[in-house]
Amino acid sequence: MTLTRREFTRLSALGIAASVAPSLPAQSSSTKTGYAIIGLGRIADHFMAGILNTSNSRVAALVSGHRDKAERIAAQYGVPSESIYSYEKFDEIAKNKDVQAVYVALPNSMHAEYTIRAAKAGKHVLCEKPMSTSVADAEAMIAACKAANVKLMIAYRCHYEPTNLKAVQLIRSGAIGQVQAIESAFGFPIAAGEWRLNKNLSGGGPLVDVGIYALNACRYLTGEEPAHISAFASVIDHDGRFNTVEENVSWTMKFPSGIVASCNTTYGALMGGYFRVHGPKGWVAADPAFNYDGNRLLASFDGKQLDEPNPARDPYQFTAQADHFSHCIQYGLEPKTPGEEGLRDMRYIAEIYRSAGLTLG
Ligand code: NDP
Repeated sequence: MTLTRREFTRLSALGIAASVAPSLPAQSSSTKTGYAIIGLGRIADHFMAGILNTSNSRVAALVSGHRDKAERIAAQYGVPSESIYSYEKFDEIAKNKDVQAVYVALPNSMHAEYTIRAAKAGKHVLCEKPMSTSVADAEAMIAACKAANVKLMIAYRCHYEPTNLKAVQLIRSGAIGQVQAIESAFGFPIAAGEWRLNKNLSGGGPLVDVGIYALNACRYLTGEEPAHISAFASVIDHDGRFNTVEENVSWTMKFPSGIVASCNTTYGALMGGYFRVHGPKGWVAADPAFNYDGNRLLASFDGKQLDEPNPARDPYQFTAQADHFSHCIQYGLEPKTPGEEGLRDMRYIAEIYRSAGLTLG
């Protein structure tokens, strides 16, 4: 069995996916939601490529510390030169009528500042995960967007990804019975010199970066919020990379129903992102679960074995995400992953760090 376009559409119809496929008729550039991309790094590349496949969104402006790089990308996406901004001049974007929204793709500690400045400029905000580097910043971001009457969505792309959606659907349908336990993990060996290893920019180590996928997955797979959290953190490689952030975190979450989730994250090993959910009638897993493409749903229940690779290719998740946010902006709807969803994770991350004897931010 494979995840077909029909399956994709059926998941949307079930309401599990708020919007995973382009849902509006083709539009002229003037009716498409124009995004200013803030920070032209690796994830911004995927997002901009994803926008090209939507019918309701476009790249309208760029914000960068590197004018030459911005000029190159502007030529690629048809962005006029006057719609390239430096960080210092960013607030002038308020006057740019081509821009209705921003996509914040900066190092984590800069998310709050640019979300709040964008809101003050009257622009809707799609902000990368982790939402912020403190609970207080996440609260301030929500307050600023509310005060400016603009929408705030956190870029939790797995909420718009068919393998993850199908896993949720199977679990909710009772296919494996009452969930008892979950295992989830995500990590990779990090190279020295990354801003992610500077706590002033990242707010934390692998937990805020990729462990957040396992944390968030346990919440959407169970539909519950963790009631108890306990954690350990460690540094094994004393090679200069982990002077300000942790290398490993392992944590356990107990949910109100009694489900226990065991999670791991690391910057010291290739820990392919996955989850496995166990019930009395079988199990549902995704391995990989959190990749840009190539995710694979695996399950065993009722004497059936499922093995469904998702055939969609990068940047389809970024297309789905932009399509959803633009749809919400254009139709006055609440995004599926609003600021409040990001805030919840920031509170749990703070709790995980506290339990492990560390601090967030
Ligand atoms: P990159 O380092 O590739 O890009 C970040 C960009 O931010 C830089 O290219 C730069 O753009 C700008 N920037 C401004 N100030 C700084 C600074 N002091 N140090 C470094 N960069 C700076 O990071 P990523 O794209 O990997 O990550 C960006 C955000 O996206 C993070 O919050 C991360 O957690 C999130 N992310 C999300 C993923 C997902 O799947 N949803 C995957 C990867 C990352 P310029 O040169 O234009 O100024």
